[in-house]
Amino acid sequence: MISSIRLYFLGTGGSWPTPQRNTLSLGVRINDEAILFDCGESAQTALMKSSLSLMKIKKIFITHFHGDHFLGLPGLIQTMSFYGRQDPLEIYGPIGASTVLGNLLSIGYYSLNFEIRIEELKGNGSLDFGDYSISFAKANHTIPALCYSLKEKEYAKLEESKIKNLKVPRHLLEKIRKEGSAVANGKMITIDDISAGVRKGRKISYSGDTRRDESLLDLFRDSTVLIHESTGEKSNENKVISYGHSTGKDAAIQARDSNSKKLILVHFSPRYNDIKPILEEAKSVFPNVTAAEELMELEVTIND
Ligand SMILES: [Zn+2]
Ligand SMILES: [Zn+2]
Repeated sequence: MISSIRLYFLGTGGSWPTPQRNTLSLGVRINDEAILFDCGESAQTALMKSSLSLMKIKKIFITHFHGDHFLGLPGLIQTMSFYGRQDPLEIYGPIGASTVLGNLLSIGYYSLNFEIRIEELKGNGSLDFGDYSISFAKANHTIPALCYSLKEKEYAKLEESKIKNLKVPRHLLEKIRKEGSAVANGKMITIDDISAGVRKGRKISYSGDTRRDESLLDLFRDSTVLIHESTGEKSNENKVISYGHSTGKDAAIQARDSNSKKLILVHFSPRYNDIKPILEEAKSVFPNVTAAEELMELEVTIND
């Protein structure tokens, strides 16, 4: 069962790094496991400044192979090796991932003492990781690209009074939750005997780079937090769209139309010294919006 889901904004800028913003990377900690979505150039130094340990990273999901989303990988992997990592690392990405990552990891002479498993994700789909799943869908960008959504599994809300009445031992609760039933005090107890209703799982969606596209609404539907790119705003709209990106307003429309609860904007063009116009434009469509700051952290609760 997942108790805590925490977000770490390790890089919030688009295209190229500036003294103010690293290129894109989002860390997600689920209980004691960490996942990265994208790995921009300075992801590893941002990790070192954050409270998220780079050794906890089990999986990395790359949206696409534009440099601002993956160039941090070789350095991060080398540091993991220096730190004595032995656990395998899973890297997922769109079509072409095996070739690009294979080339990237053969640069130079560093040797790794852990295994890297690369998986190419094709089309739309979903991967089941037990307590949560990660779905992906094709982005509307200039090269093959994916958007991702992490969804916590729904689970039964346990009711304390029922547990007490039936004298169900505490150590059996997780078993009943997972397997649906267990024998307690010589009697079969089912999940329905000790629960009332279902607790909805938290959902975090991450756009990577994409134009606004209605086909993505299913993936983003009912997100607790939607993290969406917003490269520019109205005055640059034509350019933003022609390069395969979204404006602040586009991101807000996606949040509104997918019935998401909270929107966090990332991937601001480095041409903007002040991102306020992007944020204001989004706010006019979807009020519960924040512009991500470097090293911002956020605990995701079901009421967000
Ligand atoms: Zn980008
Ligand atoms: Zn891109």
